[in-house]
Amino acid sequence: MIRILKIIFAVLPIVPIAAGNLNAQEMETKVPKISVFPVGKENTGFEQYFTGKSWLAPLTANPSLNVPMFNVTFEPGCRNNWHRHTGGQILIAVGGTGYYQERGKAARRLLPGDVVEIAPGVEHWHGAAPDEWFSHIAVECNPATNENTWLERVSDEEYAEAVKR
Ligand code: MN
Repeated sequence: MIRILKIIFAVLPIVPIAAGNLNAQEMETKVPKISVFPVGKENTGFEQYFTGKSWLAPLTANPSLNVPMFNVTFEPGCRNNWHRHTGGQILIAVGGTGYYQERGKAARRLLPGDVVEIAPGVEHWHGAAPDEWFSHIAVECNPATNENTWLERVSDEEYAEAVKR
């Protein structure tokens, strides 16, 4: 009898703790560790310009250095809308597998270490592969005068065609 009671008391506290953890995990998407850089917070500030969820981590803080850099993480299938930057942009792939496409051109598959130089005014989008997470560092070029113009979504048909290769 004592032995049975011991077992019951040993098991009881575990049940509510396990249930609590399960609920917390269901609420938030678990972001896998795919690069050495921080993931930051869910990118709710730009969510209207993205299809799918993304996360944003500022990597620099000193405004006098004047070259803002962010690590952007995309869940599988996530991509931003077609857009252009008046100051241009540099992307450095740091984790997972992604894609970059300029209007009218074939998409480029991106792996860690790949660098993309985006000239001012060129319409493009960037995002993850359909079944893989992706992170790139985004460098905002000519930030004193840069303006971003957000355009239409990359449709499921456009995306499917772009990621075929
Ligand atoms: Mn861009």
